[in-house]
Amino acid sequence: MEQSAEQVWGACLEHIQEHVSRQSFKTWFEPLTAQSIEEDDNLRKLTVQLPSRFYYEWLEEHYYSLLRKTVTKVLGENGRLFYDIVVEQEADTDVSAADQHTVSRPPTRSASTPSTEQSSAGSPQPTGAQPPSRSSSVSSESSDEEGIRNPFAIPGIQKAEIDSQLNSNYTFDRFIQGDCNRLARSAAWAISQEPGGTSYNPFLVYGGVGLGKTHLIQSIGNQAKEEETADTVLYVSSERFTTEFVQSIQRNRINEFSMFYRQIDLLIVDDVQFFSGKEKTQEEFFHIFNALHQSGKQIVLSADRSPREIDGIEERLLSRFKWGLSADVQSPGLETRIAILQRKAEDDNIDLDQEVIEFIAHNIKSNIRELEGALIRLMAHASLHQRDIDLGLAKEVLRDLMKDVQVSLTIEEIQRTVCEYLDIAEDLIRAKTRKREVVRARQIAMYFCKEMTQHSLKTIGLHFGGRDHSTVIHAVKTVEDQVETDEQFRDTVDQIGRKIELRAR
Ligand code: ADP
Ligand code: MG
Repeated sequence: MEQSAEQVWGACLEHIQEHVSRQSFKTWFEPLTAQSIEEDDNLRKLTVQLPSRFYYEWLEEHYYSLLRKTVTKVLGENGRLFYDIVVEQEADTDVSAADQHTVSRPPTRSASTPSTEQSSAGSPQPTGAQPPSRSSSVSSESSDEEGIRNPFAIPGIQKAEIDSQLNSNYTFDRFIQGDCNRLARSAAWAISQEPGGTSYNPFLVYGGVGLGKTHLIQSIGNQAKEEETADTVLYVSSERFTTEFVQSIQRNRINEFSMFYRQIDLLIVDDVQFFSGKEKTQEEFFHIFNALHQSGKQIVLSADRSPREIDGIEERLLSRFKWGLSADVQSPGLETRIAILQRKAEDDNIDLDQEVIEFIAHNIKSNIRELEGALIRLMAHASLHQRDIDLGLAKEVLRDLMKDVQVSLTIEEIQRTVCEYLDIAEDLIRAKTRKREVVRARQIAMYFCKEMTQHSLKTIGLHFGGRDHSTVIHAVKTVEDQVETDEQFRDTVDQIGRKIELRAR
């Protein structure tokens, strides 16, 4: 007796059930429905209906061989599986389906026209009771063909409308260029013009706090959206990614989490150093990274230090961070600081005398956030006390502020001060020599670099002629120990410390 499509598919499901977890079965196979079974050209063609293109892609990527084996087992060697993808046409009717199957944060589906080939009017529900009025089938056989095997490369998937989470103020237009960020900025611009199409994939921007990393990477997203060079853009901090991932585990929705991220064309992940030590999150991110990268999607990352210096991140993930381009942003020089202040004042519609701008720019060197903070403080004072912003006010207001600011000292400034004080040629401190006085100066300078800058031990070591971080640790320890026991040495170190502080002001 001829079996119905339901019966055949039922037998397939039984087989599948034995080979996948209950959760996967429920998520990926239960929602499929049998549509037809036909004999054609000596082939037995079973067609099942899928609720979205995403299912097709997912099944092809993860369950291709299982499906193939299943169909062969149930239908014999000449059995073939076809998919019929039913994509909803009405945006309004679809929220529930989207919620259940597409994304991890509640979206509304885009109201855009359905994808051309695979779309058909039909029930948006996963178990779509209504037959599609127009459909085309994709044979799982075809998956060996180029372009189809990689399911993410298939055009036409209907995407959920995703809130990009971008701050619209972070644009290229508002990002002042200077020597400190030129490379990063021009790479960022190139990426925005052609996400995934440059060799800068992934693109990693790194540098200290307040130097414009978030601003720059969000600019890529805003520009790509404006010029429509990427359909789906998502900005996410690595903390948020982690939180969402953990929640998705708790709610048993990892598949949705994963699917959600895989539909992004331009994924921007801020502060990836937070992934440090979070193994499971890293693993998930690793897979998402691979899936996106393989299908030519753009990935943009930021970190507070260079990939070499990030600890607690698995090597395989770190090595991927280094695949494309890493570019740093540094502290802005005086001209850039002036330009930034001018631009901010303009944006906020305040008149600032050049001398006030220069005063601030001269005195606040650490980072751009501090620079902005100073300006805001100045404006607040002026309006509160109904005073004009002039140099006098600027001096008053910034005096306090400058005390708090962790002044940005460079390693070189510290080296110079130490060497001047101890009367040693500066280049010796970076050279190989092991002369007693040089070693001592080197150790003291390393100690102050550790105490007074934010640089990592690794970076400090590199600035001392490429020494490694254990040398720095040793130096710091030696100085600390000697300060404890040797009064004269303590005096010397104190005096040098004061000189360095003076230099920083
Ligand atoms: P980070 O992410 O590196 O800590 P942000 O991107 O948050 O730094 O930048 C801090 C502040 O400085 C933001 O308000 C940003 O708009 C501003 N900013 C940073 N770099 C620039 C720049 N090159 N031009 C103008 N504003 C900048
Ligand atoms: Mg940031």
